[in-house]
This record gives sequence, structure tokens and C-alpha cells, in this order.
Amino acid sequence: MNIVVCAKQVVDVSEIKVDPSTKRPVLSGIAKKISDIDKNAVEEAIRMKEKVGGKITVLTVGSADAKERVKELLAMGADEGVVIVAPVDSEYSVVATLLAAAVKKLGQVDAVLCGEASIDLFSGQLGPRLAGVLDIPQLTYTTKLTAEKDHVTVERNLGDHAATMTSPYPVLISVTKEINTPRLPSLMQILSSSSKPIREWKAEELAGGPLTPKIKTLDIKGVPMSRKNIVYQDDLDASIHKLVGELAKEGVLR
Ligand SMILES: Cc1cc2nc3c(=O)[nH]c(=O)nc-3n(C[C@H](O)[C@H](O)[C@H](O)COP(=O)(O)OP(=O)(O)OC[C@H]3O[C@@H](n4cnc5c(N)ncnc54)[C@H](O)[C@@H]3O)c2cc1C
Repeated sequence: MNIVVCAKQVVDVSEIKVDPSTKRPVLSGIAKKISDIDKNAVEEAIRMKEKVGGKITVLTVGSADAKERVKELLAMGADEGVVIVAPVDSEYSVVATLLAAAVKKLGQVDAVLCGEASIDLFSGQLGPRLAGVLDIPQLTYTTKLTAEKDHVTVERNLGDHAATMTSPYPVLISVTKEINTPRLPSLMQILSSSSKPIREWKAEELAGGPLTPKIKTLDIKGVPMSRKNIVYQDDLDASIHKLVGELAKEGVLR
């Protein structure tokens, strides 16, 4: 089975500070990492491979330095990586077009795994867009996955209810954070991952020409969150009593 995992390199959003004068996020000097849920997708791909056999390719659209992050996914157990170096104005349709072109270039692919959303922009568009461009079935918000040789069965979290669904291959599956706990690679796995291949493909060559972005981001601003900073200094029982009363007044507790 040929499994592709789409993994995005993002800035570590927990480290972002907002410039108080401009309200814009300060991104310089912030560490980059693989978007959290994409590690769940890699973990699930490894479990599929352990059950039915196959090969796992990690695809990322981003800057060339994403190779360093892809190495971490190879250490977890993916077999190879492809970094598609994209122009700075790549937006959703461009990224989906590039990922689809890369999947086609890889040849026969049985399963494409994505995160339900990235931790930075969180649009949740890429999985459904990619399935659309590839014209394959999609199973989104997967919380449990059982792979068989000729089909896959998933449980999907739909908020107030869950659905069990099945599809033959090829299929695109987006996973939630709850699906598993990504493994931490051992030192041996980290060392041996350096011999696994990471290819670099140029966006324009892959797409067969320039790609025209359709959406333009005009501005990104942090949303200020004000805290009430109420401190209860009575004894514990009295403080808890007051806190519960305040929370009830705010409508948090009923
Ligand atoms: C090099 C580059 C330049 C960009 N320039 C601009 C710009 O100028 N203006 C602008 O508005 N936006 C820009 N973007 C952002 C881009 O529009 C989004 O990153 C992208 O379309 C995904 O949207 P999202 O993060 O909301 O993903 P979601 O749809 O929330 O992600 C869902 C899942 O899709 C997969 N996925 C998402 N992105 C990637 C990726 N890059 N590679 C591999 N898998 C992925 C992952 O599995 C992820 O969990 C740029 C992105 C890149 C990589």
C-alpha cells in the first residue's frame, strides 16, 4: 500500500507574541515545527503500514528548510519525504494544486492522510480541496481508523454524534488529535533516518507553469484578550464559594 501524509511546517504558535502597537504577530525568531495534528496523521500511517504493509511518503509544501522538520517524521517511521518549494504568495488553491500534482507524480497512491486542520491558519480546507482535485472519496474528522487490504473503516467525530464509515482505496482521510498519541522516535531511529531520502521539487515545474493565487491575505492581527485578574484571598472554602458564585453570575455554571 502506498500511503501519503501531508504535513505542514508551521511556526510554533505558542511562542507568538503580539506587537502591542500594531497588534500584528511578531514572527521573527520563532521556532518552526510540524503542525501537531500532522504528527497524528504520520502515526496513523505507520499503524496502517504495520498492519497491511506498504510505504509512507511525507509531502510538504513550504520553504526548503522544511527538510529539517521532515527528518523528524522519517525518524518516527515514514520512508521518504518530498518538500515542494513554493512561492511566498501560495494560498489554499495553490497548495492544494501542488499537493495533488505531487500525489499524481508519485504514481499509484492508495491513501492520503491529512490533519483535520493546521495549528496556525486552521482553515481545515486542504484535505477536502485535495480530495476534490484528485477526485477521490474523503473521510474527514477521523477519530479511529481500521485499515484492511482492500478498504478502510473509520469512526468520525461529528460533535454531538459519531459515524462509522468505510471506503475502498484510493481515499483521503483527515484525522483529529484524539486518534492516537504520536510515538517519540528512539535515538537509533533518529540516527538511521538520515539515510532516508528527502526529495525537493520546484512548485512551477511540478504544476507545469506559474500558479495564480486567488485569495490574498490583507492583514493578520492578534485578538486582545483581557483578563479580570480577580484574586480571592479568604480561606479556601470561602474563596471556592465566591468563585463558584462569580462563575454562576457569568453564566459559566448553571
Ligand atoms: C510557502 C507558503 C507560502 C504561503 N504564502 C501565503 C500567502 O502569501 N498568503 C496567504 O494567504 N497564505 C499563504 N500561505 C498559507 C497557505 O494558504 C496555507 O498554509 C495553506 O493553504 C493551508 O491552509 P491551512 O493552514 O488553513 O491548512 P488546513 O486546511 O487547516 O490544513 C489541513 C491539513 O492539510 C495539510 N496541509 C496544509 N498545508 C500544507 C502544506 N503546506 N504542506 C503539506 N500539507 C499541508 C496538513 O495535513 C494539514 O493538517 C502560504 C503557505 C506556504 C506553505
